[in-house]
Amino acid sequence: MAPRVRFAPSPTGWLHVGGARTALFNWLYARRHGGAFVLRIEDTDAARNTEEATRAILSGLRWLGLDWDEGPEKGGDRGPYFQSARKEIYRRYVQCLLDENKAYQEKGVVRFRLPHKVVRVADRICGTVHIDLSAEPDLTVMRADGSFIFHLVNVVDDLEMGITHVIRGEDHLSNTPKHLALYEAFGATPPVFAHIPLILNKDGSKMSKRDAGASLGEYIAKGYAPDALRNYLCLLGWSPKDNRELMALDELIARFDLDHVHRSSARFDVEKLEWMNTRHMMDMPLARFLEIARPSLGEIASSDPFYADRVLAVVKDKVKHLSDLPEQTAYFFRDDFPLDPAAVEKVLRKPGAADRLAALRARYANTMDWTSTTLETDLKALAAEMGVKPAEFIHPCRVAISGRTVGPSLYPMLEVLGKARVLARFDRARAA
Ligand code: GLU
Repeated sequence: MAPRVRFAPSPTGWLHVGGARTALFNWLYARRHGGAFVLRIEDTDAARNTEEATRAILSGLRWLGLDWDEGPEKGGDRGPYFQSARKEIYRRYVQCLLDENKAYQEKGVVRFRLPHKVVRVADRICGTVHIDLSAEPDLTVMRADGSFIFHLVNVVDDLEMGITHVIRGEDHLSNTPKHLALYEAFGATPPVFAHIPLILNKDGSKMSKRDAGASLGEYIAKGYAPDALRNYLCLLGWSPKDNRELMALDELIARFDLDHVHRSSARFDVEKLEWMNTRHMMDMPLARFLEIARPSLGEIASSDPFYADRVLAVVKDKVKHLSDLPEQTAYFFRDDFPLDPAAVEKVLRKPGAADRLAALRARYANTMDWTSTTLETDLKALAAEMGVKPAEFIHPCRVAISGRTVGPSLYPMLEVLGKARVLARFDRARAA
């Protein structure tokens, strides 16, 4: 039977990286086994839920590429399930508990008769755990105001939605005996439970909602590649048999399994994420890079999208974060870019540099085939003729066309800028 899994966040804040990882594990499990991934917003706590939080969850999941498979139609879009729209169903289940004397009313609230004993939980990741409910009071399932308690709606929905595997954070392990008791009361077979380890800060402290780096939104704003964050989150608490680290999405899908989810907590190491991010940007196909990078350029790129794409192709291997792109590519889009004073002093004012730049300008003015290969050949030929190293041309040329001493490979950069811009920039640099 194809598995049915779900991500069931409560919209009480922004999407936490732990939540994003839970969603990812569920999604990968569904995709790997040809099952369904259900998104269910657990918004029964009206006082704590916000629409903003729901929006952050949906946009965060979309950004990570985690699409959900079913849900009510909303204006042509497939919405997630919202528990706030399912009260009739919960009422029916509570009535059923009352009818069978498995629950009772007390001071307006409905309480479920918990089994006051030690309950055995067989968890797919944590193994067999025994949890003692003997001192637990009976479980409130419905409040006096008619609203429902998390445990009830969570179990009813998993049942109604035919969920086969509940993959969720370890913080819910202690709730599981109560959930098992509810399944039994409803005469239903419980799903497989798989509780995944918590995420800790790098120093080993528990990552709380307030910690820097705990919100998915921070990574989106900073301009990480979703591909990299997805890969990194996946390795927080899971690793494939051969401990491979850099993996594209199809590989993650093909390899993800619950058997290799770790039992111990995972530490969030932002340096490792940085490394992964740089590697992903370099390794990903150009088309994918363009897709994720274009929005970062925004308005700058709108007048000539074709040119903007060529610029992005040139800087691809040098980008750390997509949010750096406007600054990092500014000189491609405007001619009055600043010349770094230190670079002017060190490179352009170096004895002989002005003459070499003039000579290179004259050479390039005659270059007909404006391609990186020819530009390289021409520069090197000129250096040989003048008996100096190519670097003596490369450095002033780079400062002249970009204002700085570091950047993408020179010849592709020259090619993309085009002859007219390059020659004008040489003139401007000589006047500096
Ligand atoms: N709404 C719960 C949470 O956000 C869901 C727990 C579960 O996945 O069962 O923690």
